[in-house]
Amino acid sequence: MHTVLSVHAKGTVEEAAARAAALGYEAIAITDHCSLNMCHYERSVDVLLMQKIPQSLFGVRIFRGVEMDLHDYQGHLCFYNIPYDDSSSALDRLMATREVVIASPHFLPEGREGTSDEITEMYLGAIASPYVTTLGHPERINKEYDVTAVALAAAGNGTFLEVNNLSVQRGYAPQIAKMLDQCRAFGTRIVVNSDSHSTNTVGSIDAAKSLLVECNFPEELIANRSLAAFEQALADQHSRKRA
Ligand SMILES: [Zn+2]
Ligand SMILES: [Zn+2]
Repeated sequence: MHTVLSVHAKGTVEEAAARAAALGYEAIAITDHCSLNMCHYERSVDVLLMQKIPQSLFGVRIFRGVEMDLHDYQGHLCFYNIPYDDSSSALDRLMATREVVIASPHFLPEGREGTSDEITEMYLGAIASPYVTTLGHPERINKEYDVTAVALAAAGNGTFLEVNNLSVQRGYAPQIAKMLDQCRAFGTRIVVNSDSHSTNTVGSIDAAKSLLVECNFPEELIANRSLAAFEQALADQHSRKRA
């Protein structure tokens, strides 16, 4: 979910945690945007480094996360090519402070409409990144990609594919259903995210839930079905990515 730090979102970390506690959630992930286009421009990393996110609040475990823009058709994350100091990029510096990292397409990378092959390559690049926990809303770029290759690669290194509640609400259910078919076939784990941009939508996943029920999707492939399951799936991902 997002907070006021994403600029186009509302609400603070404290308000999000209070709302999550009231709804009975065990955990939330704060994943404000890091973007060269959407917010803060070149200062995006600095702003996120200053963000204070406690490990838990009101009994709710809070994951320190970020949603990174995909930068190019190779699947690099934004800020990978911007130096922070002599030995690390701004991306490296930020990544050292995050527990969960969503890599998402939000605009046309490289300022042009890529081919389906290029978009597939971009997603495969992101999935292979040791930094990336989750590929975010791949359907939202409105372009065909090789869903089979993406689901297979994600299964291989334990990267999660996102089922995004906002995307379902915005009419992307057919594309997401196609992705879910491939995830089921390869045993690829998904995460179900609200993509909340204001306190009153924290934990809102009803549209995504209905789609999962409709698709008869196996619950054991939902990495964030519980806090314990999520921690276990993250640990499995880390061991695969470090192997
Ligand atoms: Zn946003
Ligand atoms: Zn997004």
